[in-house]
Amino acid sequence: MKTYDYIVIGGGSGGVATARRAAEYGARVLLVEAARLGGTCVNVGCVPKKVMWYASNIAQAMRDAPGYGFAAATVSLDWATLKTRRDAYIARLNGIYADMLGKAGVEIVHGFARFADTHCIEVDGQRFSAPHIVIATGGRPVVPDIEGAELGIDSDGFFALDHQPRRVAVVGAGYIAVELAGVFNGLGSEVDMLVRGAQLLRPFDALLRDELAAQMQQDGVRIHFGAQVKRVAREADGSLRIERTDGPPLQVDALVWATGRRANTDRLNLAAAGLAADAKGVIATDAFQNTTTPGVYAIGDITGHAELTPVAIAAGRKLAARLFLDLPDSRLDYDCIPTVVFSHPPIGTVGLTEDEARDRFAAVKVYTTRFTAMAHALTEHRPKTAMKLVCAGDDERIVGLHVIGDGADEMLQGFAVAVRMGARKADFDRTLAIHPTSAEEFVTLR
Ligand code: FAD
Ligand code: NDP
Repeated sequence: MKTYDYIVIGGGSGGVATARRAAEYGARVLLVEAARLGGTCVNVGCVPKKVMWYASNIAQAMRDAPGYGFAAATVSLDWATLKTRRDAYIARLNGIYADMLGKAGVEIVHGFARFADTHCIEVDGQRFSAPHIVIATGGRPVVPDIEGAELGIDSDGFFALDHQPRRVAVVGAGYIAVELAGVFNGLGSEVDMLVRGAQLLRPFDALLRDELAAQMQQDGVRIHFGAQVKRVAREADGSLRIERTDGPPLQVDALVWATGRRANTDRLNLAAAGLAADAKGVIATDAFQNTTTPGVYAIGDITGHAELTPVAIAAGRKLAARLFLDLPDSRLDYDCIPTVVFSHPPIGTVGLTEDEARDRFAAVKVYTTRFTAMAHALTEHRPKTAMKLVCAGDDERIVGLHVIGDGADEMLQGFAVAVRMGARKADFDRTLAIHPTSAEEFVTLR
């Protein structure tokens, strides 16, 4: 049996980050990956999604061009070419990850790991042991148990599509649903969204939820609230018939389930490590990523906290520093995590929603604005930008900052620093505006 200082199960965002750091700190590290290095984010998540989002933005820019005097161009996308080029980019990233890990001195084994006992794992019959083992196995999409559900695809299936469906139904109202619906719509597919509740992005601030729904509808997405799928069947012409609770059946060429994810812990033989997961596969951890078994840790999506790449990376790096740099207090602070939804238009948000702030603080003051960004002054397509600052206490500390509109994705990071540092409204007020931008509205709110 080969022994190491640190075994990392899963080579996604969290696993790669913690393995590299630990090796840099001098640990002998083994990383086990069952599929492709980079995990969800690189292969079927953030990266290919962002490529598709850019493609959709380019299509919109082409539609906007006549407003600036350009001759109208036909927006005609060769989806297969886009996919080939996107896949090649991701293959390059897979190679870069392998090189990076190799240079750091991390050993990589390809295969599916399962626990043999508390400090020992098994991969294809081979055993490896270490005093420290971290589980970073991420998650996978879940699809509701409905007749014909298998005729639809999930987000992994979206990235495998080699042609553009003309008519698409997207089920769900979370990050993935609004992002994929926006991409399809921007690229010219007809989109119906089936939302079981009354809102998109339920946990987000009301301003963001309402503006996004209004903008998507204005852009042509048909959003059916209070809609559940009853049955899915394949028609003779190859299309799908979706029977739903709220109206006549829909006829589409593709159905995308964007109905949440579950953690990849069911095949790990957790019991051998003295561990158990909850119904969604989540492994409980304390603030230091410790599981209930000493020497076994968990990071990333399987911990059920904010399922975001920078969160998995930061948790993994902090853990490596705690274990191999002798920094006993090193841990990730899960408060105040900024996040961007790559919808059309994009959303940036950090801190508390207005409702959360009102529950938590006696004095809450809110500043909002809504306007058409200058980029759209000459175009027919005139999406709105909306912003909200949520301030608490007499000194108006900014506890929530929310924006939807072009540029929100790039705007948020800098403002997140300010919110994290405890900025007050007065700090924003005495910061000079940068003109003409949309972001300047955040420092001129009254
Ligand atoms: P993962 O990245 O999922 O990695 C887990 C790895 O473990 C996988 O490679 C898997 O093959 C491997 N594995 C599983 N079981 C085993 C085993 N038993 N043995 C060996 N290996 C195993 N986040 C953002 O911050 N920004 C975004 O824009 C964004 N977009 C997203 C878009 C989509 C469509 C999806 C699905 C997710 C998106 N996310 C985004 C979320 C982000 O991808 C995840 O939060 C992140 O990848 C989690 O990292 P992780 O290390 O926990 O797991
Ligand atoms: P989310 O948890 O964001 O959303 C799941 C959605 O599915 C909710 O709208 C939920 O509805 C709906 N739903 C669940 N079950 C059913 C059902 N049986 N029928 C109909 N609707 C159902 O999950 P996602 O899968 O969209 O994304 C997973 C995570 O990945 C995100 O939470 C985020 O952390 C991360 N991610 C991040 C991105 C980014 O950073 N830009 C992009 C994509 C993903 P309801 O609201 O009623 O509960």
